[in-house]
Amino acid sequence: VSVSELANLMDVSYADVISKCMNLGLMVSINQRLDAEVIELVANEFGYEVEFIGLDEHEAEAEEEEIVDDEKHLVPRPPIVTIMGHVDHGKTSLLDYIRNTNVIAGEAGGITQHIGAYEVSLPNGKKITFLDTPGHEAFTAMRARGATVGDIAVIVIAADDAVMPQTREAISHAQAAGLPMIFAINKIDKEGANPDKIKEQLAAMNLLVEDWGGKYQSQEISAKQGLHVDLLLEKILLEAELLDLKANPNRPAVGTVIEASLDKGRGYVATLLVQNGTLHPGDVIVAGAHYGRVKAMFNERGQRIQAAGPSTPVQVLGLDGAPQAGEKFKVYADESEAKEIATRRAQILREQGMRARKHITLDEIGRRLALGTFKELNLIIKGDVDGSVEALSDALQKLSTEEIVVNVVHKAVGQITESDVLLASASDAIIVGFQVRPSMQAARLAERENIEIRTYSVIYDAIEEIKSAMEGMLEPKI
Ligand code: GDP
Repeated sequence: VSVSELANLMDVSYADVISKCMNLGLMVSINQRLDAEVIELVANEFGYEVEFIGLDEHEAEAEEEEIVDDEKHLVPRPPIVTIMGHVDHGKTSLLDYIRNTNVIAGEAGGITQHIGAYEVSLPNGKKITFLDTPGHEAFTAMRARGATVGDIAVIVIAADDAVMPQTREAISHAQAAGLPMIFAINKIDKEGANPDKIKEQLAAMNLLVEDWGGKYQSQEISAKQGLHVDLLLEKILLEAELLDLKANPNRPAVGTVIEASLDKGRGYVATLLVQNGTLHPGDVIVAGAHYGRVKAMFNERGQRIQAAGPSTPVQVLGLDGAPQAGEKFKVYADESEAKEIATRRAQILREQGMRARKHITLDEIGRRLALGTFKELNLIIKGDVDGSVEALSDALQKLSTEEIVVNVVHKAVGQITESDVLLASASDAIIVGFQVRPSMQAARLAERENIEIRTYSVIYDAIEEIKSAMEGMLEPKI
């Protein structure tokens, strides 16, 4: 719905709608389309209740997700695993080792191509799909685009080192996504490796591993020598069993774009991860604002395949452009319908100038409270020293009321980084900085992603301001 249409619907002037939008901090033109949330807020200001009838893109997407498969059509699917951890702790080595050794017996050729994800078959016939872009940034960037890819996170920690800042980040990112974690304590072949020290540090973060009586599986490995990697894979399968992962292979495919690029000889090449249904050559798909008929499909061994079922990564030729990683794809029965949907999405993207999703801000809380839709305030807390981070985090969590729960999604010492902003974007959080500032890149990304960063130099101020925001009492800043 555009500004002028909304004005007509409510029988008010365009100027009134535009000025309400300006109050919300949005500069809009008469013919600009508004997203659902803005429409709702503006309409509410004029005393209208809004009911969406499936025209809006986000609404339509939400609807699509609701297609529920009948229990009797569901069969087990392989787990999708993402590997995270501090730099140099051995993520790539682990992925490489698994890639190079676990090739189905008798299968010609190993995994020759890097397509962003790969599937391995274990001797017991079970399969595991690994996302081949290690690190929590890639994972969380996808989540920020609305995709949840991955069922289990393996957190790699080097036993000759320690739980490091990026280890903590990776843990927060996995927890924010609700993924179960398995700790791979790596480099045990090295002199000075001390796995117990790592377990102790995890315990200090309330992450007690199984052999210490806790609930988290951990495995000591050497990714370089391949030591005990088989045991790690078994633990992944065990975790997967508990999750009871299922999908329906007998329906049109849906899933997520893992990566995409333009290849000189072959046109646009996209790696798709099928999450439900089965993808076949000849299927018409829409991925983000692009569409096309699948001309050919390849697996990570460069072999042509005719079917890709649930949890299978597949390289696809035939799209009319390169969708972004993290965008969803879906098969359509009708090519003209697919084209229309892709074209409309492209148009919306152009009109909104790739504007990011609107995220929560402190000023916004009061309005959302009035709408009755606000239940959880997610915060990321960064500070100059441990003591202040803990004090602030405790105090803010204690602000929780029956109506609003305050969640600290991540807390750490140090500058506000791009990774913090991505996490905020993926979990719709506000970043609170105490005696620290965002890096240049983080500030830029925050602006693009519409993430609010509030910095304070007095703990009391931070608490008071967030408290009044939660009571809906914060004076909007003009
Ligand atoms: P990433 O940054 O987490 O992907 O780490 P890499 O896999 O690139 O590993 C960083 C360095 O640690 C490389 O020089 C690896 O050879 C080395 N490395 C990784 N795993 C092990 C291991 O199990 N034992 C030893 N000794 N070195 C390892």
